[in-house]
Amino acid sequence: MEDRRRPSTARGVPAVTGGPAEPLLRLTGIRKTYVTDGGVAVEVLRGVSLTVEAGEFIAIVGSSGSGKSTLMNILGCLDRPTAGQYHVGGRDVSGLGGDELAALRCDGFGFVFQHYHLIPGATAQENVEMPARYAGLPAALRERRAGELLERLGLGGRRGHRPNQMSGGQQQRVSIARALMNGAPVILADEPTGALDSASGTEVVTLLRELSAQGHTVILITHDRSVAQAADRVVEMRDGVIVADSGARPRPAAVPAPQPKHVRAGVALLTDAAEAATAAVRSLTANGFRTALTLLGIVIGVASVIALLAIGEGAKRVVMAKVGALGVNLIYVMAGSGDPRLPTTPLTEADGDAIAELPNIESVMPYLDTGIIVRHGNIDHRTSGLATSAALPVTHKWPVAQGSFFTRADERAGAAVAVLGHNVTKRLFPDGASPLGRHVLVNNIPFLVTGVMAKKGDLTGNQDTDDWVFIPLSTGVQRLIGKPELPLIVVSVHDVARLERTRDAIRTLLTERHRQEDFQIRDVTGRIRAATETQDTMTLLLGCAAVITLLVGGIGVMNIMLVSVTERTREIGIRMAAGARARDIERQFLMEAALVSGLGGVAGTVLGVLSGAAIGVLAMPVTFSATASAGAVASAVLVGLIFGVIPARRAAKLNPVAALSSE
Ligand code: ADP
Ligand code: MG
Repeated sequence: MEDRRRPSTARGVPAVTGGPAEPLLRLTGIRKTYVTDGGVAVEVLRGVSLTVEAGEFIAIVGSSGSGKSTLMNILGCLDRPTAGQYHVGGRDVSGLGGDELAALRCDGFGFVFQHYHLIPGATAQENVEMPARYAGLPAALRERRAGELLERLGLGGRRGHRPNQMSGGQQQRVSIARALMNGAPVILADEPTGALDSASGTEVVTLLRELSAQGHTVILITHDRSVAQAADRVVEMRDGVIVADSGARPRPAAVPAPQPKHVRAGVALLTDAAEAATAAVRSLTANGFRTALTLLGIVIGVASVIALLAIGEGAKRVVMAKVGALGVNLIYVMAGSGDPRLPTTPLTEADGDAIAELPNIESVMPYLDTGIIVRHGNIDHRTSGLATSAALPVTHKWPVAQGSFFTRADERAGAAVAVLGHNVTKRLFPDGASPLGRHVLVNNIPFLVTGVMAKKGDLTGNQDTDDWVFIPLSTGVQRLIGKPELPLIVVSVHDVARLERTRDAIRTLLTERHRQEDFQIRDVTGRIRAATETQDTMTLLLGCAAVITLLVGGIGVMNIMLVSVTERTREIGIRMAAGARARDIERQFLMEAALVSGLGGVAGTVLGVLSGAAIGVLAMPVTFSATASAGAVASAVLVGLIFGVIPARRAAKLNPVAALSSE
């Protein structure tokens, strides 16, 4: 790339003057042999030697099939001779590689073709600007120069017109403007009047004369002798050899100044991206329906990933909220190992007291529940009684709505006091009277109500905690239950970060006390893990489905790009003639592929968000993730890049001459 930005002469690109000894162009014994598909070798040029001085205006004439176009392709570095030497500005170019030839074409030669060879969907302005992109001219300069050239060729008002909106003569003038865009010292015109009416033809020849007068070297190829008369020198070809040459009439050449080329790589990349975008949009909209169908894979893939992830994430949040409400700083110690064959020592209050001595323990809440019948007046209510400690409101972060919870003193005294759950209160005191200071009968034993709990809601999923009656553990054991065996001890910790260590300490302690591990310890992290595990499995499955859909989508993109390369072979040839290197073409098609599938990704995101939102309104909570959406679009772009490689390579490998002559 950097090479391009140096002044042309630094690389031996035709210095327009040619130097005192060296002619501008020198062909020596040039031969060109085509091998046809049937394996037959046809020698089209059979030893052509020709010298062209800077500033000449030459016509090459000859009947159709005499080898004029083949000669022009070699002169213009579009093609390489089979044998012989070609010197440009004194430098032998017959052995140069594709990129070097492209660089030579880029600012050394301007082509004018019989059928104009403009890029169909592009405007006159865009067509004229095109070669300057490959020369790395900044956008502003490019735009201005193209505008000036069109103006100069009388097309000022046609800058926004597309080729099919212009007459043949106008199109040919656009193509001449394009040939001049990079300040080409040499203009090669192959039958430029061949497709034009005589008036337009004359106009074009006059134009070429003017260019010659301004110092361009002009090589005009024609089968028409009257056209050839405009030139200063006429060279006649027959059957691949030169049979007549009127001789050089050199004129003192006023040289067109080479265009200044200064540009940074970043800018070029950006403008490349912009052009790729324009080209992509152009070819997309030209075949909108086909594009939509091919992109369906990517659209559906991305859409389903986004919608399903949103649903999954929504469900996860609901579960997390539920589990989180249980308290993240809690450790549940349950009696029994879970294996019925093993002997079990029940959990006791003494176990709870021992746990309370461990570090990081905030509270220890024994838990002993039993079925009870609670009565007030003539209302009976069958529900659960929970014998526990005064630590319950702290442990569960559960406020008391009226009155207060029972105290440690009540526990020690085994006082007959009770705290009612929200629902129990409603059942026993339907008139809304305060139960505080009243007595209720629990299994026919009178208990003084000291408080009413705030409404908590369904915490565990299987027990309505608002339906409980809370009494001191000692009272419960003595008066209601009899056995001091705890099924559960709930422990809260100060520092959640150290929860696992505390849990292990409890396990060690109880194993020591019981001499076996006949209990189980759980905490919310475990529950969250269990709850999210299912979700993660689902996400993984979704991910696999997404990858498969994207792959299918990628194949679609590859398909559409292959079709695009085939349809635009001529365009690729035109770009190569204008100086595009193989890698420029490859990059353009890669960018188009990435853009096309990125567009599919964006469409998929929109569809996914819309359908996810619809599900959110109609069925279940959804949570959208910006990261997931960005990731989906990025993967779509990546898929485009990966699957675009083959079509892009195919485009880049095309031979310029073959591409130009394709239908
Ligand atoms: P002109 O431009 O003078 O009409 P060309 O240079 O186009 O002549 O072609 C000269 C001869 O070379 C013709 O007979 C043509 O059929 C043959 N020819 C041109 N291109 C190819 C090719 N790619 N493969 C085989 N033969 C070719
Ligand atoms: Mg020809």
